[in-house]
Amino acid sequence: MTDDQCLFCRIVAGEVPAAVVHETKTVLAFHDIAPKVPVHVLVIPKDHHATLADLATANPEVVGDLAVAVGEIALAEGIDASGYRVLFNTGRHAGQEVFHVHAHILGGAPLGPMVSPSAG
Ligand code: 5GP
Ligand code: ZN
Repeated sequence: MTDDQCLFCRIVAGEVPAAVVHETKTVLAFHDIAPKVPVHVLVIPKDHHATLADLATANPEVVGDLAVAVGEIALAEGIDASGYRVLFNTGRHAGQEVFHVHAHILGGAPLGPMVSPSAG
């Protein structure tokens, strides 16, 4: 399933360039265009689903594929030992901008508190 209007579907289709770091039959990972930390990789399912829960409901095995990819990318990027954060922004309060589910892998430096001190 793809959505012609979706930026990440267009990256999967090769219509928008991306710095791909990992690819399997079901998932694709590429560097975030505006990295917030030294290592900032996005991991997406190739099929279009808006949120993690939508993906899990429609295709639970791909959630597993995505988690396996996170581990392999962390190893390849050299952040498995130092540690990293995996983040799924979901909806408005989380600031989700692209409604094709994506895991942010964040690492390469201490990441600070889990949420902004101003939150809540
Ligand atoms: P969200 O806020 O939806 O969780 O995250 C969307 C992420 O996609 C942002 O970190 C943003 O920098 C990244 N992004 C937006 N447009 C592009 C693009 O065209 N290419 C890549 N590689 N990343 C993008
Ligand atoms: Zn999409």
